[in-house]
Amino acid sequence: MKILANNLKRQYGCCGKELEEAALRVMRSGYYILGPEVAAFEEEFAAYLGAKHCIGLASGLDALKTAFHLLNIKKGDEVIVCSNAYIACVMGITVDGATPIFVEPDRYNNIDAEKIESSITSRTRAILAVHLFGQTCDMTRIRAIAKRHNLYIVEDCAQSHGNEWHGQKAGTLGDVACFSFYPTKGLGALGDAGALVTNNDDIADTARVYRNYGSRTRYQNEEIGINSRLDELQAAMLRVKLRHLDQFNLERNDLARQYSSGISNPAIAIPEVRPGATCSWHQYVIKSTSRDELQTYLSNHNISTIIHYPIPPHLSKAYAFLGYSRGDFPIAEMDADTVLSLPMYNGMTKNEITDVIDTINAFEND
Ligand SMILES: *Cc1c(COP(=O)(O)O)cnc(C)c1O
Repeated sequence: MKILANNLKRQYGCCGKELEEAALRVMRSGYYILGPEVAAFEEEFAAYLGAKHCIGLASGLDALKTAFHLLNIKKGDEVIVCSNAYIACVMGITVDGATPIFVEPDRYNNIDAEKIESSITSRTRAILAVHLFGQTCDMTRIRAIAKRHNLYIVEDCAQSHGNEWHGQKAGTLGDVACFSFYPTKGLGALGDAGALVTNNDDIADTARVYRNYGSRTRYQNEEIGINSRLDELQAAMLRVKLRHLDQFNLERNDLARQYSSGISNPAIAIPEVRPGATCSWHQYVIKSTSRDELQTYLSNHNISTIIHYPIPPHLSKAYAFLGYSRGDFPIAEMDADTVLSLPMYNGMTKNEITDVIDTINAFEND
Protein backbone atom coordinates (compact mmCIF):
# COMPACT_ATOMS: atom_id res chain seq x y z
CA MET A 1 0.00 0.00 0.00
CA LYS A 2 1.37 3.38 -0.99
CA ILE A 3 0.38 6.40 1.11
CA LEU A 4 0.41 9.61 -0.90
CA ALA A 5 1.32 12.98 0.61
CA ASN A 6 -2.04 14.21 -0.68
CA ASN A 7 -4.82 12.19 -2.24
CA LEU A 8 -7.46 14.33 -3.94
CA LYS A 9 -9.43 11.34 -5.18
CA ARG A 10 -10.38 10.59 -1.59
CA GLN A 11 -11.88 14.03 -1.03
CA TYR A 12 -13.69 13.73 -4.35
CA GLY A 13 -15.21 10.54 -2.94
CA CYS A 14 -16.71 12.55 -0.06
CA CYS A 15 -18.95 14.62 -2.37
CA GLY A 16 -18.44 13.35 -5.93
CA LYS A 17 -22.13 12.89 -6.68
CA GLU A 18 -22.94 16.47 -5.67
CA LEU A 19 -20.01 17.79 -7.73
CA GLU A 20 -21.09 15.84 -10.79
CA GLU A 21 -24.67 17.09 -10.54
CA ALA A 22 -23.46 20.69 -10.19
CA ALA A 23 -21.07 20.30 -13.14
CA LEU A 24 -23.85 18.99 -15.37
CA ARG A 25 -26.09 21.86 -14.33
CA VAL A 26 -23.44 24.38 -15.41
CA MET A 27 -22.49 22.59 -18.63
CA ARG A 28 -26.13 22.50 -19.71
CA SER A 29 -26.81 26.12 -18.68
CA GLY A 30 -24.92 27.82 -21.54
CA TYR A 31 -23.38 30.31 -19.05
CA TYR A 32 -19.66 29.77 -18.40
CA ILE A 33 -17.85 32.87 -17.09
CA LEU A 34 -18.92 35.34 -14.35
CA GLY A 35 -22.53 34.21 -14.23
CA PRO A 36 -25.06 33.18 -11.58
CA GLU A 37 -22.85 30.46 -10.02
CA VAL A 38 -20.02 32.95 -9.46
CA ALA A 39 -22.42 35.51 -7.97
CA ALA A 40 -23.92 32.85 -5.67
CA PHE A 41 -20.50 31.56 -4.58
CA GLU A 42 -19.28 35.10 -3.87
CA GLU A 43 -22.31 35.74 -1.69
CA GLU A 44 -22.13 32.38 0.10
CA PHE A 45 -18.40 32.59 0.80
CA ALA A 46 -18.65 36.17 2.08
CA ALA A 47 -21.53 35.08 4.36
CA TYR A 48 -19.54 32.07 5.60
CA LEU A 49 -16.63 34.33 6.56
CA GLY A 50 -18.75 37.14 7.91
CA ALA A 51 -17.29 39.54 5.32
CA LYS A 52 -19.06 42.15 3.22
CA HIS A 53 -17.59 41.34 -0.21
CA CYS A 54 -16.04 38.41 -2.05
CA ILE A 55 -14.76 38.88 -5.60
CA GLY A 56 -13.98 35.69 -7.52
CA LEU A 57 -10.69 35.69 -9.45
CA ALA A 58 -8.68 33.23 -11.51
CA SER A 59 -6.08 32.29 -8.84
CA GLY A 60 -4.62 33.06 -5.44
CA LEU A 61 -1.64 34.83 -6.99
CA ASP A 62 -4.05 37.04 -8.94
CA ALA A 63 -5.81 37.89 -5.67
CA LEU A 64 -2.50 38.95 -4.10
CA LYS A 65 -1.44 40.96 -7.15
CA THR A 66 -4.86 42.62 -7.35
CA ALA A 67 -4.78 43.49 -3.63
CA PHE A 68 -1.38 45.22 -3.77
CA HIS A 69 -2.20 46.92 -7.06
CA LEU A 70 -5.51 48.30 -5.78
CA LEU A 71 -3.90 49.48 -2.53
CA ASN A 72 -1.54 51.47 -4.79
CA ILE A 73 1.54 49.84 -3.27
CA LYS A 74 4.33 50.31 -5.77
CA LYS A 75 8.02 50.94 -6.41
CA GLY A 76 9.61 52.65 -3.43
CA ASP A 77 7.10 51.16 -0.98
CA GLU A 78 7.86 48.36 1.48
CA VAL A 79 5.70 45.45 2.61
CA ILE A 80 6.48 43.27 5.61
CA VAL A 81 6.18 39.50 5.09
CA CYS A 82 7.39 36.35 6.81
CA SER A 83 10.79 35.05 5.64
CA ASN A 84 9.46 31.48 5.31
CA ALA A 85 6.42 32.47 3.19
CA TYR A 86 5.45 30.81 -0.07
CA ILE A 87 7.04 32.44 -3.13
CA ALA A 88 3.62 33.55 -4.46
CA CYS A 89 3.21 35.83 -1.42
CA VAL A 90 6.32 37.73 -2.44
CA MET A 91 5.30 37.80 -6.11
CA GLY A 92 2.07 39.50 -5.03
CA ILE A 93 4.00 42.19 -3.15
CA THR A 94 6.37 42.90 -6.05
CA VAL A 95 3.68 43.18 -8.76
CA ASP A 96 4.12 46.95 -9.09
CA GLY A 97 7.73 47.02 -7.88
CA ALA A 98 7.30 47.25 -4.08
CA THR A 99 10.05 45.76 -1.89
CA PRO A 100 9.41 42.80 0.44
CA ILE A 101 10.89 43.20 3.91
CA PHE A 102 11.36 39.79 5.50
CA VAL A 103 10.64 39.12 9.17
CA GLU A 104 11.48 35.73 10.70
CA PRO A 105 8.77 33.27 11.80
CA ASP A 106 7.89 32.31 15.38
CA ARG A 107 7.44 28.79 16.82
CA TYR A 108 4.08 28.52 15.02
CA ASN A 109 5.76 28.97 11.62
CA ASN A 110 4.14 32.36 11.03
CA ILE A 111 5.47 35.91 11.21
CA ASP A 112 6.93 36.76 14.62
CA ALA A 113 4.84 39.79 15.59
CA GLU A 114 7.48 40.77 18.19
CA LYS A 115 9.96 41.40 15.38
CA ILE A 116 7.73 43.45 13.07
CA GLU A 117 8.12 46.92 14.55
CA SER A 118 11.92 47.03 14.24
CA SER A 119 11.47 46.43 10.48
CA ILE A 120 9.08 49.34 9.91
CA THR A 121 10.48 52.37 8.07
CA SER A 122 8.96 55.55 6.59
CA ARG A 123 8.40 53.55 3.37
CA THR A 124 6.42 50.71 4.96
CA ARG A 125 2.86 50.57 3.62
CA ALA A 126 1.50 47.15 4.58
CA ILE A 127 1.94 43.90 6.47
CA LEU A 128 1.16 40.69 4.57
CA ALA A 129 -0.09 38.22 7.19
CA VAL A 130 0.36 34.75 5.67
CA HIS A 131 -1.51 32.09 7.66
CA LEU A 132 0.90 29.35 6.62
CA PHE A 133 0.22 25.58 6.91
CA GLY A 134 -3.30 26.23 8.22
CA GLN A 135 -1.94 28.05 11.28
CA THR A 136 -3.00 31.61 12.11
CA CYS A 137 -0.86 34.71 12.65
CA ASP A 138 -1.11 36.65 15.92
CA MET A 139 -3.68 39.05 14.47
CA THR A 140 -4.25 40.95 17.73
CA ARG A 141 -0.62 42.10 17.82
CA ILE A 142 -0.44 42.64 14.06
CA ARG A 143 -3.58 44.78 14.08
CA ALA A 144 -2.27 46.90 16.94
CA ILE A 145 1.03 47.46 15.09
CA ALA A 146 -0.76 48.31 11.82
CA LYS A 147 -2.99 50.80 13.62
CA ARG A 148 -0.06 52.44 15.41
CA HIS A 149 1.89 52.91 12.16
CA ASN A 150 -1.05 53.46 9.81
CA LEU A 151 -0.35 50.37 7.68
CA TYR A 152 -2.63 48.18 5.62
CA ILE A 153 -3.03 44.52 6.56
CA VAL A 154 -3.37 42.05 3.71
CA GLU A 155 -4.14 38.48 4.77
CA ASP A 156 -3.01 35.52 2.67
CA CYS A 157 -5.63 32.87 3.45
CA ALA A 158 -4.59 30.41 0.73
CA GLN A 159 -3.89 27.79 3.42
CA SER A 160 -6.36 28.79 6.12
CA HIS A 161 -9.93 28.48 4.82
CA GLY A 162 -12.25 28.48 7.82
CA ASN A 163 -9.60 29.37 10.43
CA GLU A 164 -10.69 31.48 13.37
CA TRP A 165 -8.77 33.92 15.54
CA HIS A 166 -10.63 34.35 18.85
CA GLY A 167 -13.88 33.39 17.11
CA GLN A 168 -13.45 35.65 14.06
CA LYS A 169 -12.74 34.15 10.66
CA ALA A 170 -9.36 34.58 8.97
CA GLY A 171 -10.06 36.72 5.93
CA THR A 172 -11.91 39.36 7.98
CA LEU A 173 -9.00 40.42 10.19
CA GLY A 174 -7.32 42.93 7.90
CA ASP A 175 -8.15 45.31 5.03
CA VAL A 176 -8.07 42.77 2.21
CA ALA A 177 -7.79 38.98 2.22
CA CYS A 178 -6.56 36.78 -0.62
CA PHE A 179 -7.77 33.23 -1.09
CA SER A 180 -6.57 30.49 -3.42
CA PHE A 181 -8.86 27.61 -4.36
CA TYR A 182 -6.13 25.59 -6.09
CA PRO A 183 -7.22 21.92 -5.93
CA THR A 184 -4.98 21.01 -2.98
CA LYS A 185 -6.19 23.89 -0.77
CA GLY A 186 -8.63 23.42 2.10
CA LEU A 187 -11.41 24.71 -0.13
CA GLY A 188 -10.26 23.50 -3.53
CA ALA A 189 -11.76 23.84 -6.99
CA LEU A 190 -11.21 21.29 -9.77
CA GLY A 191 -8.87 23.72 -11.50
CA ASP A 192 -7.41 27.16 -10.76
CA ALA A 193 -9.51 29.68 -8.82
CA GLY A 194 -9.09 32.44 -6.25
CA ALA A 195 -10.86 35.32 -4.54
CA LEU A 196 -10.37 38.64 -2.86
CA VAL A 197 -12.38 39.30 0.31
CA THR A 198 -12.89 42.71 1.92
CA ASN A 199 -15.26 44.86 3.94
CA ASN A 200 -14.12 47.93 1.97
CA ASP A 201 -16.74 48.98 -0.63
CA ASP A 202 -14.26 50.90 -2.81
CA ILE A 203 -11.73 48.06 -3.00
CA ALA A 204 -14.52 45.59 -3.80
CA ASP A 205 -15.90 47.81 -6.53
CA THR A 206 -12.53 48.46 -8.18
CA ALA A 207 -11.58 44.77 -7.94
CA ARG A 208 -14.73 43.81 -9.88
CA VAL A 209 -13.84 46.29 -12.60
CA TYR A 210 -10.11 45.45 -12.60
CA ARG A 211 -10.62 41.68 -13.05
CA ASN A 212 -12.55 42.25 -16.29
CA TYR A 213 -10.30 44.48 -18.44
CA GLY A 214 -11.11 47.51 -16.28
CA SER A 215 -14.61 47.48 -17.64
CA ARG A 216 -17.88 47.95 -15.77
CA THR A 217 -19.97 48.13 -18.91
CA ARG A 218 -18.94 46.01 -21.88
CA TYR A 219 -16.40 47.75 -24.17
CA GLN A 220 -16.17 50.78 -21.89
CA ASN A 221 -12.78 50.55 -20.21
CA GLU A 222 -12.24 52.87 -17.23
CA GLU A 223 -8.66 51.74 -16.54
CA ILE A 224 -6.04 49.23 -17.63
CA GLY A 225 -7.32 45.99 -16.13
CA ILE A 226 -6.51 42.31 -16.35
CA ASN A 227 -8.39 39.14 -17.25
CA SER A 228 -8.79 37.28 -13.97
CA ARG A 229 -12.33 35.95 -14.02
CA LEU A 230 -13.69 33.00 -12.11
CA ASP A 231 -15.55 30.52 -14.29
CA GLU A 232 -18.98 29.09 -13.61
CA LEU A 233 -17.84 25.47 -13.43
CA GLN A 234 -15.28 26.19 -10.71
CA ALA A 235 -17.70 28.40 -8.79
CA ALA A 236 -20.25 25.57 -8.82
CA MET A 237 -17.61 23.11 -7.52
CA LEU A 238 -16.67 25.57 -4.78
CA ARG A 239 -20.30 26.01 -3.74
CA VAL A 240 -20.57 22.25 -3.17
CA LYS A 241 -17.24 22.03 -1.30
CA LEU A 242 -18.05 25.08 0.85
CA ARG A 243 -20.96 23.12 2.32
CA HIS A 244 -18.43 20.48 3.45
CA LEU A 245 -15.62 22.81 4.53
CA ASP A 246 -16.27 22.71 8.28
CA GLN A 247 -16.49 18.92 8.16
CA PHE A 248 -13.25 18.71 6.14
CA ASN A 249 -11.51 20.90 8.73
CA LEU A 250 -12.85 18.82 11.64
CA GLU A 251 -11.61 15.66 9.96
CA ARG A 252 -8.11 17.09 9.44
CA ASN A 253 -8.08 18.26 13.07
CA ASP A 254 -8.81 14.68 14.09
CA LEU A 255 -5.96 13.38 11.89
CA ALA A 256 -3.60 16.00 13.37
CA ARG A 257 -4.60 14.95 16.90
CA GLN A 258 -3.73 11.35 16.05
CA TYR A 259 -0.32 12.39 14.69
CA SER A 260 0.41 14.61 17.69
CA SER A 261 -0.52 12.00 20.27
CA GLY A 262 1.00 9.10 18.33
CA ILE A 263 4.40 10.42 17.22
CA SER A 264 6.90 9.83 20.01
CA ASN A 265 10.21 9.66 18.14
CA PRO A 266 12.59 12.07 19.95
CA ALA A 267 14.26 12.94 16.62
CA ILE A 268 11.07 14.70 15.54
CA ALA A 269 9.42 17.96 16.65
CA ILE A 270 5.65 18.10 16.16
CA PRO A 271 3.73 21.30 15.29
CA GLU A 272 1.86 23.39 17.86
CA VAL A 273 -1.25 25.53 17.39
CA ARG A 274 -1.18 29.16 18.56
CA PRO A 275 -3.45 29.71 21.59
CA GLY A 276 -6.58 31.64 20.50
CA ALA A 277 -6.53 30.20 16.98
CA THR A 278 -8.12 27.27 15.23
CA CYS A 279 -6.04 25.39 12.66
CA SER A 280 -7.21 23.99 9.33
CA TRP A 281 -4.12 21.73 9.15
CA HIS A 282 -3.49 22.49 5.51
CA GLN A 283 -0.20 20.72 6.22
CA TYR A 284 1.04 18.76 9.22
CA VAL A 285 4.64 19.96 9.30
CA ILE A 286 7.19 18.20 11.50
CA LYS A 287 10.81 19.24 11.92
CA SER A 288 13.88 17.07 12.19
CA THR A 289 17.59 17.69 11.81
CA SER A 290 17.67 14.28 10.05
CA ARG A 291 14.91 15.39 7.66
CA ASP A 292 16.52 14.10 4.45
CA GLU A 293 17.24 10.66 5.91
CA LEU A 294 13.71 10.54 7.34
CA GLN A 295 12.15 11.46 4.00
CA THR A 296 14.14 8.75 2.18
CA TYR A 297 13.29 6.20 4.89
CA LEU A 298 9.57 7.01 4.65
CA SER A 299 9.72 6.83 0.87
CA ASN A 300 11.34 3.38 1.15
CA HIS A 301 8.34 2.42 3.30
CA ASN A 302 5.91 3.66 0.62
CA ILE A 303 5.03 6.90 2.44
CA SER A 304 5.27 10.10 0.38
CA THR A 305 6.05 13.43 2.00
CA ILE A 306 6.68 16.96 0.71
CA ILE A 307 9.04 19.75 1.78
CA HIS A 308 7.20 23.08 2.19
CA TYR A 309 9.43 24.79 1.13
CA PRO A 310 12.98 23.79 0.22
CA ILE A 311 14.17 27.33 -0.73
CA PRO A 312 13.08 30.45 1.21
CA PRO A 313 12.09 33.39 -1.06
CA HIS A 314 15.18 35.49 -0.23
CA LEU A 315 17.42 32.71 -1.63
CA SER A 316 15.34 31.98 -4.72
CA LYS A 317 16.74 32.90 -8.11
CA ALA A 318 13.68 35.03 -8.85
CA TYR A 319 14.60 37.39 -6.00
CA ALA A 320 18.40 37.31 -6.34
CA PHE A 321 18.17 41.01 -7.29
CA LEU A 322 17.23 41.83 -3.69
CA GLY A 323 20.82 40.96 -2.83
CA TYR A 324 20.32 38.56 0.06
CA SER A 325 22.56 35.61 0.81
CA ARG A 326 22.59 32.54 3.06
CA GLY A 327 22.72 33.54 6.71
CA ASP A 328 20.47 36.60 6.34
CA PHE A 329 17.35 34.83 7.68
CA PRO A 330 18.66 31.87 9.69
CA ILE A 331 15.28 30.69 11.03
CA ALA A 332 13.69 30.49 7.58
CA GLU A 333 16.85 28.79 6.27
CA MET A 334 16.84 26.28 9.14
CA ASP A 335 13.16 25.60 8.45
CA ALA A 336 13.90 24.92 4.78
CA ASP A 337 16.46 22.33 5.90
CA THR A 338 14.34 20.62 8.57
CA VAL A 339 10.60 20.77 7.68
CA LEU A 340 8.64 17.81 6.33
CA SER A 341 4.91 17.68 5.59
CA LEU A 342 3.36 14.32 6.47
CA PRO A 343 0.48 12.80 4.48
CA MET A 344 -2.67 14.80 5.30
CA TYR A 345 -5.88 14.67 3.31
CA ASN A 346 -9.61 14.21 3.75
CA GLY A 347 -10.55 10.56 3.52
CA MET A 348 -7.28 9.33 5.08
CA THR A 349 -7.99 6.01 6.78
CA LYS A 350 -7.21 4.87 10.32
CA ASN A 351 -4.87 2.22 8.89
CA GLU A 352 -3.00 4.79 6.85
CA ILE A 353 -2.42 7.21 9.70
CA THR A 354 -1.43 4.39 12.06
CA ASP A 355 1.03 3.13 9.46
CA VAL A 356 2.63 6.58 9.12
CA ILE A 357 2.87 7.01 12.92
CA ASP A 358 4.34 3.53 13.50
CA THR A 359 6.82 3.90 10.66
CA ILE A 360 8.00 7.30 11.97
CA ASN A 361 8.35 5.96 15.50
CA ALA A 362 10.51 3.09 14.18
CA PHE A 363 12.87 5.53 12.41
CA GLU A 364 16.37 5.44 13.84
CA ASN A 365 18.89 7.94 12.71
CA ASP A 366 22.47 6.81 12.71
C1 LIG B 1 -1.32 28.47 -3.05
C2 LIG B 1 -0.84 29.70 -2.41
C3 LIG B 1 -0.83 30.92 -3.10
C4 LIG B 1 -1.11 31.06 -4.58
O1 LIG B 1 -2.32 30.55 -4.98
P1 LIG B 1 -2.51 30.08 -6.51
O2 LIG B 1 -3.98 29.85 -6.61
O3 LIG B 1 -1.71 28.83 -6.68
O4 LIG B 1 -2.04 31.18 -7.38
C5 LIG B 1 -0.48 32.06 -2.39
N1 LIG B 1 -0.13 32.00 -1.10
C6 LIG B 1 -0.10 30.83 -0.41
C7 LIG B 1 0.27 30.86 1.04
C8 LIG B 1 -0.43 29.65 -1.06
O5 LIG B 1 -0.38 28.51 -0.37
